Amino acid sequence: MPRTVLLIDDDRLQFRLTQAQFGAFQGEKFLLEWVGSYEEGLEKLAGGGFAACLLDYQLGERDGLELIRAAVARDCRIPIVFLTAETADRVDIAAMHAGALDYLVKGEITPRALERSLRYALKLGETLEALRLLATRDELTGLLNRREFDRILDEERERALRFGHPLGLIMIDVDRFKAINDGHGHPAGDAVLREVARLLGREVRTVDRVARFGGEEFAVLLVQTDATGTSDVASRLCATIAGESFTAAGVAGLRVTISAGVAALPNDARQAGEFVAAADKALYAAKQRGRNRVVTFAEV
Ligand code: GH3
Ligand code: MG
Ligand code: MG
Repeated sequence: MPRTVLLIDDDRLQFRLTQAQFGAFQGEKFLLEWVGSYEEGLEKLAGGGFAACLLDYQLGERDGLELIRAAVARDCRIPIVFLTAETADRVDIAAMHAGALDYLVKGEITPRALERSLRYALKLGETLEALRLLATRDELTGLLNRREFDRILDEERERALRFGHPLGLIMIDVDRFKAINDGHGHPAGDAVLREVARLLGREVRTVDRVARFGGEEFAVLLVQTDATGTSDVASRLCATIAGESFTAAGVAGLRVTISAGVAALPNDARQAGEFVAAADKALYAAKQRGRNRVVTFAEV
């Protein structure tokens, strides 16, 4: 299946021209899909599924720079090559700042220059994506790492307080995990952590965020969910883990439990640090009260 490149340009002639240039490419053959307006362009970019995008500066009332910013704000990660007119004053620089990976001057585009630029943007896009994953994911489990979780927590906290939505947080710690390492070895411990991570990720909505907070600690952030709702989810997570029989590093039938502490905005905290501390305090109480259970901050 050839990959598809999206062209956003309000000039139909540019579509015909680009199509002809695509036909003259030496290497990979791409399909070209064309949309003529800002709105359609934004929908396509936000929807994903394109290998790359060629984006014109002039788009009727709006311009391509606005479109790049809007697409980036909607988490678009499609590599964008910006098309400018020769006369445009430093738009090329502005486009790169906004998030375009390369630019071409419209009157000077040859098939060879277009192919080179697309190939370059595709390669750079892959590299950036790999770096983004390295920077935001935990290596062992593939969950969000602590740093990314902290960033998202701050963002969601601000959003929740501004719009008056609740925000739930579950801090989770595997019970007596040291005994698994000691009894079956560190690789078995690692395998258990991976499986716990997979089960946690499976049990929450896609809008919720699951992170490995540290060693055998996990955190779950539940958007638009109050303490009661968060506590229900935490109970389900505890039951899921307790009901599972783990196989790790050749050892079958391992049983694992988790303890969970729950806190929710706006009642339990205002600042991010306070919020985590509240859930942590509840988690500590869950351990004290016998493990394999959920305690909410209101109960401590
Ligand atoms: P508690 O029920 O009180 O939480 O007991 P625990 O044994 O789980 O608590 P403790 O904090 O004493 O032990 C946590 C252990 O987790 C110690 C540490 O070696 C282990 N650990 C931390 N990170 C990893 C990891 O990445 N892989 C493995 N295999 N073990 C880890
Ligand atoms: Mg711990
Ligand atoms: Mg533990």
